[in-house]
Amino acid sequence: MLSQTISIAKQSAFKGKLAFRSLATQATSIPKTQKGVIFYENGGELHYKDIPVPTPKANEILINVKYSGVCHTDLHAWKGDWPLATKLPLVGGHEGAGIVVAKGENVTNFEIGDYAGIKWLNGSCMGCEYCQQGAEPNCPKADLSGYTHDGSFQQYATADAIQAAQIPKGTDLANVAPILCAGITVYKALKTAELRPGQWVAISGAGGGLGSLAVQYAKAMGLRVLGIDGGADKGAFVKDLGCEVYIDYTKSKDLVKDIQDATNGGPHGVINVSVSPAAISQSCQYVRTLGKVVLVGLPAHAVCESPVFEHVIKSIQIRGSYVGNREDTNEALDFFTRGLVKSPIKVVGLSELPEIYEKMEKGQILGRYVVDTSY
Ligand code: NAD
Ligand code: ZN
Repeated sequence: MLSQTISIAKQSAFKGKLAFRSLATQATSIPKTQKGVIFYENGGELHYKDIPVPTPKANEILINVKYSGVCHTDLHAWKGDWPLATKLPLVGGHEGAGIVVAKGENVTNFEIGDYAGIKWLNGSCMGCEYCQQGAEPNCPKADLSGYTHDGSFQQYATADAIQAAQIPKGTDLANVAPILCAGITVYKALKTAELRPGQWVAISGAGGGLGSLAVQYAKAMGLRVLGIDGGADKGAFVKDLGCEVYIDYTKSKDLVKDIQDATNGGPHGVINVSVSPAAISQSCQYVRTLGKVVLVGLPAHAVCESPVFEHVIKSIQIRGSYVGNREDTNEALDFFTRGLVKSPIKVVGLSELPEIYEKMEKGQILGRYVVDTSY
């Protein structure tokens, strides 16, 4: 609330006159240290400990993170899976939901007390040819939460005010957290597949964090949904979320045939959110003629193989899809706010992050784990 805030003003000499420049606005009770999970080398120990509270730059807000989703990307970042270096030491996390407690002098779109979300895209240059087209995630200077910028696995995190998500007051912060990466990403991926209501979409990796939201966004967009994952528990889970058909990749003897039979010739689109190179390449085989394969999941060192003859004769398209821009963010949040998608979450303490990574690595998570930063 504004009444609970104070302004820090700095007096500075300017052309012989005295000028007051507001450095920042902040809530009164921001501690100097906080709890967070930090690692010093990729794959090294995850320390749950006291770390300094960061100070927002002129363009940033400081968010008191209440909850953060745990995305498989956080696991990739910790392991150092990708050909892009993380900052070190690093505080991971990029699905953070909380309350603005301080802001830099140039911030005009957030007030103290507003609800705000930390997304994967922390900031972009806003000047390059990709930013100009609204493809901000593709900016070569993109700053990434929980990767090149300390993220949401801490109680207080900074975020570029332009890219931070605006979350309506009164929203359940634990439930909205997974929308900030998983929700935005699958919503954008479904848009990228350019499907029409009534067409079939296959979600490969349907029982995971991204998949469980993809099933619901697809349903809300009027699509018929086939889910692929492993195990009977994931089958019951995704059917409950709206899958018409479930294919268990651990049981199917001929996955391509089973999927084509169930969809009368193959799905019109496939959203790949599994962390399996084999599953990604298979999707190029079972997709329907003229269909679209959307690549979202990012297994380490993966290559997508598509037989050229079938690729041409069926005239399929393979498209990459990378999180979403500010418009996608607001649209994805709107589906959530209107109750069209629900976050299938399990809330545990931030200190339990290592155990979550262990379960995630084994594919044992149904939906999304969300960490409460208070323990
Ligand atoms: P997750 O671990 O929650 O889910 C992955 C699911 O895939 C699990 O349910 C697992 O059982 C299933 N799976 C494993 N092998 C499979 C197979 N052969 N066939 C079908 N399903 C299989 O992970 P998540 O948090 O949903 O993230 C998924 C991937 O998406 C990660 O690689 C992550 O880095 C990536 N990601 C990409 C973007 C983007 O913008 N492109 C954004 C966020 C996450
Ligand atoms: Zn993510």
